Amino acid sequence: MNYEAFFRSQLDTLHREGNYRVFADLERVAGSFPVATQHAARGKRDVTVWCSNDYLGMGQHPAVLSAMHEALDRCGAGAGGTRNIAGTNHYHLLLERELADLHNKDAALLFNSGYMSNWATLCTLAAKLKGCVVLSDAGNHASMIEGIRHSRAECQIFAHNDIDDLRAKLQAIDPARPKLIAFESVYSMDGDVAPIEAICDLADEFGAMTYLDEVHAVGLYGPRGGGLSDRDGLSHRVTVIEGTLAKGFGVIGGYITGSTGLCDFIRSYASGFIFTTALPPMVAAGALASIRHLKSSRVERDRMHAQVKKLRAALDAAAVPHLANPSHIVPVIVGDPVSCKSISDQLLDRFGIYVQPINYPTVPRGTERLRITPSPLHTDADIAHLVDALSTIWHELSIRRAA
Ligand code: PLP
Repeated sequence: MNYEAFFRSQLDTLHREGNYRVFADLERVAGSFPVATQHAARGKRDVTVWCSNDYLGMGQHPAVLSAMHEALDRCGAGAGGTRNIAGTNHYHLLLERELADLHNKDAALLFNSGYMSNWATLCTLAAKLKGCVVLSDAGNHASMIEGIRHSRAECQIFAHNDIDDLRAKLQAIDPARPKLIAFESVYSMDGDVAPIEAICDLADEFGAMTYLDEVHAVGLYGPRGGGLSDRDGLSHRVTVIEGTLAKGFGVIGGYITGSTGLCDFIRSYASGFIFTTALPPMVAAGALASIRHLKSSRVERDRMHAQVKKLRAALDAAAVPHLANPSHIVPVIVGDPVSCKSISDQLLDRFGIYVQPINYPTVPRGTERLRITPSPLHTDADIAHLVDALSTIWHELSIRRAA
């Protein structure tokens, strides 16, 4: 077989469809978020980033940076091993305690990313609970889908956020079988939110466990940044709350929180936890500082939500269509991969604005979009510039305006 020809033909398909991914070559500048330096063929220049998942700019917060510098100087670069073999650093344990407290749970377990925490935990739970049926929301993230698939357990997909469909599926399952309902709190592409309480009610009624991915909510919602389950006083009703340290908290890493027994079980059986080198201590120290800061400060959360509101109002005033949702994610739907990429290119080239086009398979075909994430550090002038730029391009491309 001509392997190279195969790779090329697959890439040609992506180019033809307009779905070939191009990464912007950026250099983040500590202290300047959301401004970053773009390295391009024509040289370097500053651009304003409007699509970062460092939602609160905590990746450059002085408290986080100084904690990381201190831990780097104290402990060195790497963890030195897997958690089991010499890699457990005191910072990991402090961070796990902090995370358990954040979600009002007895215990927490760290992973190297949110992807790994979903993959390893769902896979292990569903594989080890004999006869388990997983009920998975149709909008769930790839990391959850892959973990469930790898478990080889039966999986039933319920319609997105559809309580009636979930109930119908639960009713049809043998009551004696273990059941696990897997869902997210904030869905990252449409920015819509789950009916957490109603799902927990159903779980209680049918004796199911619940697994809630709060990746796009931790740090951003709740009086202490514990996510939507924290905001709505529901943490105690969810069996497993999963999160990331890479978005609202601005660093890297993932985690689960739950009962002592459950976390110990995953710690002891999940290959994605056991067989990989632990996070560097400085990363754990940075995440710890970020969580502690956001537990007591609501300044960042409040300002972010205020800027989201201002952006939505400005888009409305300029008749640039965007999806209505109750979260901080502002999707501007384009509906075509080539136009989506072209708008993104123009924003960058002409206006110094970076918003990555989101195309298939991240979103369904025909719903290609610009996914805009305002942070507390975007100014009112940044918002005005973005909306002017979008409005200009929309007008030029004669894209249908909102009614
Ligand atoms: N869960 C959801 C819903 C996500 O959107 C993502 C990543 O974007 C992840 C999990 C993975 O988290 P991480 O980026 O920490 O690997």
